[in-house]
Amino acid sequence: MTKKIYRSPLPSLNIEDVDLVSFLFSNPSNTPLDRPLYIDALSGKQYTFRDVIQRVRSLSNGLQQTFGLKPKDVVALFSPNTIEYPITCHSIVGAGAIVAPTSAALSSIELYAQLETSGARFIISHSSLIDTARKAAKGTSIEKIILLDGAGTSTCEHIAGTFPQGDLTPIHPSEAARQAAFICFSSGTSGAAKGVISTHQNITSNLQQWRSHCLDSGLPSQRIKRSTAVAFLPFSHIYGLNMYMCQCLVWGTTVVVMPRFDLDIYLASIQKHRPDGLELVPPIALMLVKDERVAKYDLSSVRRIMSAAAPLSIELASALEAKFKELYSTEVFCIQSWGLTETSPMATAFPNDRMDKRASGVGCIAPNMEFRFVDPETMKDAATSADGSSESAEIWCRGPNVTQGYYRNDKATKDAFYVDEDGTRWFRTGDIGTIDKEGYIAIHDRIKEMIKYKGLQVIPSELEGKLVEHPDIADAGVVGAWVETKATELPVGFVVLSSLAKDKDPKTVIEGIHSWLNPKIANHKRLRGGIFVLQQIPKSPSGKILRRQLKELLKRKTFPR
Ligand code: AMP
Repeated sequence: MTKKIYRSPLPSLNIEDVDLVSFLFSNPSNTPLDRPLYIDALSGKQYTFRDVIQRVRSLSNGLQQTFGLKPKDVVALFSPNTIEYPITCHSIVGAGAIVAPTSAALSSIELYAQLETSGARFIISHSSLIDTARKAAKGTSIEKIILLDGAGTSTCEHIAGTFPQGDLTPIHPSEAARQAAFICFSSGTSGAAKGVISTHQNITSNLQQWRSHCLDSGLPSQRIKRSTAVAFLPFSHIYGLNMYMCQCLVWGTTVVVMPRFDLDIYLASIQKHRPDGLELVPPIALMLVKDERVAKYDLSSVRRIMSAAAPLSIELASALEAKFKELYSTEVFCIQSWGLTETSPMATAFPNDRMDKRASGVGCIAPNMEFRFVDPETMKDAATSADGSSESAEIWCRGPNVTQGYYRNDKATKDAFYVDEDGTRWFRTGDIGTIDKEGYIAIHDRIKEMIKYKGLQVIPSELEGKLVEHPDIADAGVVGAWVETKATELPVGFVVLSSLAKDKDPKTVIEGIHSWLNPKIANHKRLRGGIFVLQQIPKSPSGKILRRQLKELLKRKTFPR
């Protein structure tokens, strides 16, 4: 079989063996120690670079001495974004242990599943989530729940104590390519949420790939400074984790931390702290274009807007650029980056000197990465034109930022990779895309089951499993429906009613299902696209739900009953 391998147009980087925390505190940008690094968007409370170093040293020591944290232990971090979050994370990783960041939106049932997957010893929980953490921890390997904020209680200790500063005990550099720093959760191409292993080197590589691709490329006049960033993306998702907890720390960017998205607070924070770059997801781009409140704030500092985690249409990107032109007569470039939790996350982006190509998709391949475009049916590389462009096919990739696999899940790991005849392992992304003759990638479709609601993952099989627990439901299928006016997919449920529901009013049954389901799931997983009744869920002879057929039904809006 002929392999057609595509590489980055950017020069290769020399990726060293170094542990993440030593890399983060290596201060390559000579950040002054009194520079504020994390500022709470609501209270204004801040930690300088010096505070961050001291607090990480002290907390890392305290976690080991007081709580008995050991190398390779897994700690679940369950909190909305706070300025303590990155400090806690780096303290854990600095002790040679592993952080499993769990979304603050999870219900106790969902958190329980993630604790089971990660085998965590401790939960460090925000006080607002402590009841959920307690319920979730029952019957798991959790030995202690520790409060992230506030004072401790008689049943719960807290990390806010003043511990003496100790030396960090990072892993040996030779382990950087193997030892996990984070376990983030993703469905991968199918099935339930799995723990994606992000090694120290996966993250340090991606930090360097990002720097070379997005910060240092092009002429100095084409670059942005990125002295400040406003962070609403959850730190528990790889996009927020890498960008704000790691990128900003290592290169000395001040991060204004929002606990959750609120448009007024976001706009006020941009006005006050004047970032030159914004990082967002498509529905927020839509809000910036449409919401009248945008004109009431001064956003004139912005020069670059980067969208990732879900597709952004060319029309929306252009409308956003036009809006900034209209308001401030400034040229703002709205670009996309593409990647996955499994690629730590950035796999493609735009170099600063190629903004003219931004309409073509998600940019070009990150340094040190290799891509293939493969027909997932035949496993053959897609046809290539004489000019080097490729036909649409599944993107396979490899590189120093690509995960080794899923934590304690050999089957899922095996399924996620294709080992070719040379023994080379290729990660199968489940995204369909093309590359053009100049090396620019476009994403056209997703063949994996995953639904993305506002950039956050919704896992169909997880919802289907829950739905069939309802006595009125005999069978269920869940798919995503793209809604242009909201710039996102919405999860849609199809159900077959059980004999118990036969004589009931279907409208009442559906309302009942929504109110039964919603408290059991994170807010972003709600079936906002509706629940529809079918006679049967289309399935293959082997019993696999034919999601394409469900999507077709949605398009035609015909729901036989
Ligand atoms: P996650 O692991 O949650 O980051 O989700 C990764 C998935 O999000 C990718 O496999 C894509 O399906 C989708 N995605 C990320 N960035 C983009 C983008 N710029 N355009 C289209 N889809 C994207």
